[in-house]
Amino acid sequence: MEDIASYVEPLLKKWREVYKEEKRKKPEKTEYSELDPLMYFNVKRPFFVKLSPEDPTYVRTFRMISYGMLKYSPSMRTLILRGAGYNLARKLVETNEIRSIDDLPRVFLKQKLGLVDIIEESFNRMKVNLYECISCYSIKPVGRTLCDFEAGFIQGVMEALIGKNITREVYCWGLGNHFCGFEVVFE
Ligand SMILES: [Zn+2]
Repeated sequence: MEDIASYVEPLLKKWREVYKEEKRKKPEKTEYSELDPLMYFNVKRPFFVKLSPEDPTYVRTFRMISYGMLKYSPSMRTLILRGAGYNLARKLVETNEIRSIDDLPRVFLKQKLGLVDIIEESFNRMKVNLYECISCYSIKPVGRTLCDFEAGFIQGVMEALIGKNITREVYCWGLGNHFCGFEVVFE
């Protein structure tokens, strides 16, 4: 798949419709259930499977670790994954692997974390969506967000490139959405 950009563009368009629809929808009562490990581990992400057929194996390994941490201690998992994402992002900016916000989608794609879509960019606020997220794509709602590594990563990139901020995950498969959405508010 040489020309990834021309393939990703229409996909983002399709996903953005999902976002708009769910943003518009009145929040309804969502049924939450326990995270089922078998369903959590076995997932086929349509875009990433096309990109590399071994994708389900990568995702499975990542989710096994993530699930293990969640079972051990949800609060420690959040702290550690957030910190890991944050530190990694700062490092990648320091070593010039990330030079501008435009590099964020490229790195997420390369590491198969998900498809980044920058929804809004203003001087004090940003909205970043993530589709086919490695941490939560296609899970049943569990009543919490799960993408702490991704949130920390976005926060770290934004801090290194722009300035101190608070990054929150506001949409997530874990909450009943069909994508992830992060809000970055600069101090
Ligand atoms: Zn998520």
